[in-house]
This record gives sequence, structure tokens and C-alpha cells, in this order.
Amino acid sequence: MNYLNQKYSTVIVGGGIIGCAIAYELSRHGHKNIAVIEKNSTIPGLNQSSTNGGVIHSGIYYPKDIEPLKAKLCVLGNKLMYEFCKKYELPHKRTGKLILARNSQEEENLDFFFQIGIENGVEIKKISAKLAARMEPNIGTVTSALLVPSTGSAALSPLIEKLKELAKTDGVKFFLGTRVNAIHAEKTKFIITLHTNSGIKSMKSDSVINAAGLYSDEIAKMINPSNNYQIDPVRGELYKYNPTSRKDISFKGMHLYSIPFCYYSGTKQIAELPVAEIRKLLRAGKVTKTLGVHVSPFGNFVTVGPLKTFNVGKEDYMTNLKNPEDYIQKVHHLMPGLRAEDLKPHYAGIMAVLKGSTDFIIKRDDVFPNCIQLVGMDSPAWTSCLAVAKYVKELIHK
Ligand SMILES: Cc1cc2nc3c(=O)[nH]c(=O)nc-3n(C[C@H](O)[C@H](O)[C@H](O)COP(=O)(O)OP(=O)(O)OC[C@H]3O[C@@H](n4cnc5c(N)ncnc54)[C@H](O)[C@@H]3O)c2cc1C
Repeated sequence: MNYLNQKYSTVIVGGGIIGCAIAYELSRHGHKNIAVIEKNSTIPGLNQSSTNGGVIHSGIYYPKDIEPLKAKLCVLGNKLMYEFCKKYELPHKRTGKLILARNSQEEENLDFFFQIGIENGVEIKKISAKLAARMEPNIGTVTSALLVPSTGSAALSPLIEKLKELAKTDGVKFFLGTRVNAIHAEKTKFIITLHTNSGIKSMKSDSVINAAGLYSDEIAKMINPSNNYQIDPVRGELYKYNPTSRKDISFKGMHLYSIPFCYYSGTKQIAELPVAEIRKLLRAGKVTKTLGVHVSPFGNFVTVGPLKTFNVGKEDYMTNLKNPEDYIQKVHHLMPGLRAEDLKPHYAGIMAVLKGSTDFIIKRDDVFPNCIQLVGMDSPAWTSCLAVAKYVKELIHK
């Protein structure tokens, strides 16, 4: 394969779900001469898109005034994801979800997310503890719940494989096992230095799309050194249990979640503050929201997680992993019958959390407008991938 002197109209850095969805969307709308550069030797490879929970989120967690892109793209992405999975017969299920409150403080927080859900146009309902227990008979003692029917699950590999296949059919070239080492940006031209199995090569392009996930901060800086994005990697570890091994727990297959909470972005301490205060700190980028450990259907298994570890390296999947006991404690009210010995390690993934901002960054580069930067594409970017791709296409056409 000779990369030298090859010129592309668009080079997409990163073949995760975002890079593949953009390649699919652009190529099916007539964009020609697109290359996707991926450092892993396969798609799917080891990245966020292959180690996530496979939850199709509904969009109730993102206040429009604080996280406008997540609010808009998650709700649209949810709809597009179901349509895509249905059209191509990919494994998926609209299971619905229960978010469970245990006391009046949690009910106040539940109300906060109920309001966001309504503002974002998500179908959502407050229900009694009794009704929640009818839907999932094994939940613990709760005071009330939110029912979110549009939450669901989809299998990870079939989705990305289909996007890649469709993009390839439409002419996109995928260069795997190829790492972008440097990018020299000029006004309307980019020269990209690549590390390949057969040495250092280079490639020219009229435009670049940065979809490099955990490395999006580094790619952004290669293009324009004045970019100061910083990805603060957070490891999320998932355990799983086999429902056939615990027939006494009658799990009906809904996602079971606790009330989300926030931690201070600097110290990582939990921020136990009134909702109004949380809103202010979220807007200032001082706290980060987390959905907590949940119980979720995942193919033939049920996953329990993710528990988070902060201050890890971008590829640190293994050091100081948590114990099953840590999970059982967190999900006692969601599934009290579950025991530590039921849990087996599933996998760990590293989340590309952006320091100082909780929304996605999707924009033309300030200095090199032929580059589109996608930074901080953490959850719910997997759910949102098809909507993100449409958004990028519209940005290009503007
Ligand atoms: C544990 C966990 C659970 C999650 N659960 C959910 C969930 O249930 N629902 C949901 O919607 N989201 C979830 N997410 C978030 C979701 O997985 C991510 O937001 C999404 O996968 C991001 O996709 P991406 O393509 O931007 O990044 P990635 O999947 O990380 O892909 C980026 C790609 O860029 C490549 N790359 C990087 N640098 C270079 C370079 N220099 N040269 C060439 N290639 C490069 C990488 O190899 C990688 O393949 C979860 C994430 C984690 C970690």
C-alpha cells in the first residue's frame, strides 16, 4: 500500500463508532475520496466503542442550557439508533429503564432529571414504588421511580461493523494499524505523517476530522498548538452475571439505575449539594455528572457497573481493578438478591472525559476551519453516533 503522494478530500482520524458513523454519513451523501486512519489493526479494536455498556440512552441527563449538544444529539441519536438497528437487523432491544429513588432527597434529584427529560422531549413518567416493583419484582425498598421507555441496548460489534461495511461500499478507504504521528496544517491543506507496519509514510488531505477519542486532545494540538483540550481518562469497570445461574432472581430485563450524582472534577470527591448548586457548578465545569453503577441487560448476560477509577493512563485497563463486593454494595437497592460470587469480570473501558467541560465539543478548528474537532466524546456519544455524524455533515455544508 503506497500512501506517499496520495491525496484525500477528507481524512478521519479514528475508527471508533464516531469516525465510522461520520465515514458512513458523508459517503452516503456523495462525499468522495475519504480515508479513515485507525491505529488498531482491526475495527472493532480496543477503544471506548468496544468496551462500553451498550446502553441506548434516552437523553434525560443533559440540561439544554449546560450540555446543549449532548441534549440534542442523544435524543436524536436514540431514535436514529433504533431505526438503523431495525433496518439492518442488528441485535438490539428497547427495554425501558427504571431510575429508583430511596428517600426524599433522592426524590428531589429525581425531579431534576424528570424536568430535564420533559424539556428535552423525552417520554418519561413518574411512577410509584408499587408499579416499579410490578415491572421488576426484585428491586429493593424504594420510594418512587422514573420510567424511561426509550432506553434500550444494542450489541457493540455488529453496529460498528455495519457502519464500516456501508462506508466501504460507498468508497471509503480504511487504513488499519496506522497511527497518525503528526499533522502539518496549512490554510486549506493538511500533511499527515503516519506510522505504519512498513515505516513512516505521509498523506495529504483537504480536510481533517478529529475523531480520535481518548487521543482527541493530542490530535487537536497537532493540528493547532493553541488548542488546550485535556482528556482526563476515567476507567469504568464492568462485571456481569449469568441470569440462568440465578433463576431465583426474576430479572425482567429493564435497565435499573440509581439517581445520578456529581463529583468535583478536581478532587473527585462526591458533591453532596442541593440541585440548584449542582446546576451552577455543572455550568462552570467544576463538577462532573455520573450515572452510578447500574444493572443492565447485555445480550445473554446482565452487566453490573461501571465503577470508576480516576487518574489512570489512556491505556490502563488493568491496574488496581475493583472487587465484586464493591459492586454489590452499590446495587443493593437495585437488586438486593445479587451476591458477590454471582459476578464475573466483564471488561474495563477508559472514558475520554474532557477537563473543564461536560458537553461534547464538535466544531471547526479556530485557526484551521477545514478541520473539524470532536473532543470530549464521552457518554452518550455511542448512543448519539448517527446524530453526531449528521451534525458534522451539516457543519461541513454550512
Ligand atoms: C466503560 C464505558 C461505558 C460506556 N457506556 C456507554 C453506554 O452505555 N452508552 C453510550 O452511549 N456511551 C457509553 N460510553 C461512551 C462511549 O463508549 C463513547 O462515548 C464512544 O464509544 C466514543 O467513540 P469514539 O469513536 O469517539 O472513541 P473511540 O471508540 O475511543 O475511538 C477512537 C479511535 O481513535 C483511534 N485513534 C486514537 N488516536 C489515534 C491516532 N493517533 N492515529 C490513529 N487512530 C487513532 C483509537 O485507536 C480509537 O479506535 C461508555 C464508555 C465507557 C468507557
